[in-house]
Amino acid sequence: DLQLSSRVQAIKPSPTLAVTNKAAELRAAGQDIIGLGAGEPDFDTPEHIKQAAIEAIKGGQTKYTAVDGTPALKQAIIAKFKRDNDLEYEANQILVSGGGKQSFFNLALATLNPGDEAIIPAPYWVSYPDMVLVAEGKPVIIETGAETRFKITPEQLENAITERTRLFVINSPSNPSGMAYTEEELKAIGDVLKKHPDIMIATDDMYEPILWTGKPFCNIVNANPELYDRTFVLNGVSKAYAMTGWRIGYAAGPARIIGAMKKIQSQSTSNPASVSQAAARAALEGPQECVSDMVKAFKERHDWLAGALNELPGVECLKGDGTFYVFPSFHAAIEADPNASNDVEFAENLLTEAGVALVPGSAFGCPGHMRLSFATSMENLEKAIERLRKVLS
Ligand code: PLP
Repeated sequence: DLQLSSRVQAIKPSPTLAVTNKAAELRAAGQDIIGLGAGEPDFDTPEHIKQAAIEAIKGGQTKYTAVDGTPALKQAIIAKFKRDNDLEYEANQILVSGGGKQSFFNLALATLNPGDEAIIPAPYWVSYPDMVLVAEGKPVIIETGAETRFKITPEQLENAITERTRLFVINSPSNPSGMAYTEEELKAIGDVLKKHPDIMIATDDMYEPILWTGKPFCNIVNANPELYDRTFVLNGVSKAYAMTGWRIGYAAGPARIIGAMKKIQSQSTSNPASVSQAAARAALEGPQECVSDMVKAFKERHDWLAGALNELPGVECLKGDGTFYVFPSFHAAIEADPNASNDVEFAENLLTEAGVALVPGSAFGCPGHMRLSFATSMENLEKAIERLRKVLS
């Protein structure tokens, strides 16, 4: 047989993409499927952003750019950090990549040696543990549940730290839980990290503006400015501006490691697409009402969906702080179901029997729950709830 590396055998394909693909297959075979699995806004990319891309094509911005991004986009990112986050960066502290996914991939490859530990709170974005494994690191998972609103405590973090810990990952507001850490919670977590100066921190702020706590967005370095020298802020335009297909993410942090990440990118993909970079610049520098309009729609759907889920037998749903996901417990529903012994089987049955695609919590390291995306129309959400009600009663 042709040989596979142990690296690739240690990982699995993205389970969220798998659900989306399975739903698409069933749909193509003529079945009526409601997809609540997707991790992307249902809105189109705003018009002024598309126009900027068209102008970039016409203006000949169709060649290689600097590996780490065009100077114009990097300036837009620096201005964004100053404007929205009160964070100061120089150009050599910024790396633009082909999506937030590549930012984290570069970071894992640039910082982890075989056996180095990366602490990842669960429920987690599906890709963190697998990307750590590709880098031959060891994911160390901290489990959480509804009783802490799916957030870790400082004690849990302290207990997870060993002398092999190199990286701590935090994602707020969180995919899949929709929960955001408060400034006080981030301060308490920061107090633990201050005692361990060798640990680097990755804050994944991908859902930054999709937040309805009424408080300004706050990440771990905002709450603990002392951590600036070892924190990587990962962000991008995919979710905030409905630009998942354009593939632009960016990282900011200590220049030496950002330089190492750039070196990896220079030997793998080189610069992210030139036209997409022009579009991302327009997104960051242009009017921001398009973002608040989308957030308003997400919030309305969220409130309706969380309420409707709580009326289903065997389902319990906390209200989230942001993102376009809810993460209800289906524990009682699964227990009452003779045809499913866990969340994965339950989700498979839902897809084939009720035509509703959602992602089982196991994919995010938190079994017994389901992630439902409300990046879809109210009409679809209402239909999905009707179907769920039939199956569950
Ligand atoms: N980080 C989180 C928490 C996400 O949910 C996602 C996308 O699902 C990403 C990063 C990556 O986004 P991108 O599409 O820009 O690679």
